[in-house]
Amino acid sequence: MKTVQKDFSSHKDLVTFALQNLCVSVKNNGADVGAIKGGREEALKALKDIKPKDYVSTRNFIDGAVTWLSPYIRHGILTLEDVRQEALTHVDTPEKIEKFIQELAWREFWQRLYVQQPDYIWNNIEDYKTGLSHDDYADELQEDIRKGETPVACLNHFIGNLINDGYVHNHARMYLASYVVHFRRVKWQAGAQWFLTHLLDGDPASNNLSWQWVASTFSNKPYIFNLDNVRKYATDDIDTSSENNEVLDYSYDELNERLFPKKGQINA
Ligand SMILES: Cc1cc2nc3c(=O)[nH]c(=O)nc-3n(C[C@H](O)[C@H](O)[C@H](O)COP(=O)(O)OP(=O)(O)OC[C@H]3O[C@@H](n4cnc5c(N)ncnc54)[C@H](O)[C@@H]3O)c2cc1C
Repeated sequence: MKTVQKDFSSHKDLVTFALQNLCVSVKNNGADVGAIKGGREEALKALKDIKPKDYVSTRNFIDGAVTWLSPYIRHGILTLEDVRQEALTHVDTPEKIEKFIQELAWREFWQRLYVQQPDYIWNNIEDYKTGLSHDDYADELQEDIRKGETPVACLNHFIGNLINDGYVHNHARMYLASYVVHFRRVKWQAGAQWFLTHLLDGDPASNNLSWQWVASTFSNKPYIFNLDNVRKYATDDIDTSSENNEVLDYSYDELNERLFPKKGQINA
């Protein structure tokens, strides 16, 4: 049996070995990334801090009571069952935290689907329901998106979270994916690859199947959002002014017409 090397002559050698051999993101020259610290001890501390009862009503808000546990779960430091058991100690009946348990189940569902249908990870499961075909979307992500220098200030904030912290709130992940695919017409695969490069919880199943859901290749309709929606859920430090977020500042009817003009023709 092959054993993992444990002795290294220098810290640099260890980092080089980890980068080459282990499935771990080491960024910023090996420095800790963002607020999430590695290791079981830190994971157990974070697990003790979860607020599953508050989660139910606040989880869509950027500063809501989400757990930030996904990197630990992704890398096997915590199991979904560890999290479920801890959450159940906060209530007398499981129904009170049903939404939280459901979200854990989503992760399990994506993992099982991945095992059964590995082709789903990088191929369109269905056609886009946008009136556009696969070839209408660009292959590559534009540089302003990669750098967080888009014309949309609130999204630049979330791209900063992605690049600097390796963690993005679920709602913001949906906004970013929608912007990339529907507002900028880039293939979801390019966006999914970009997320996987930065996310500490980067996971082919949860990530790519969620991108397909937003794109509408694994759902009945494209997911879109507008500035009013961001304003409702964002924190005060995020710029949601109309002048700095123009392309989002429309009603849903207007956005549907602007983003999917051919869809109207198809449905007519
Ligand atoms: C475009 C897009 C890309 C995503 N990429 C990833 C990814 O690479 N890795 C990843 O783990 N999750 C991914 N998700 C799912 C979800 O956004 C994250 O699991 C969640 O934001 C992690 O933060 P948290 O631990 O604070 O979650 P919480 O809201 O506190 O949820 C607790 C746990 O439940 C699970 N969970 C919650 N929501 C979801 C969900 N919608 N789908 C699957 N599992 C969920 C996670 O394991 C999470 O840690 C993605 C979602 C979208 C829309």
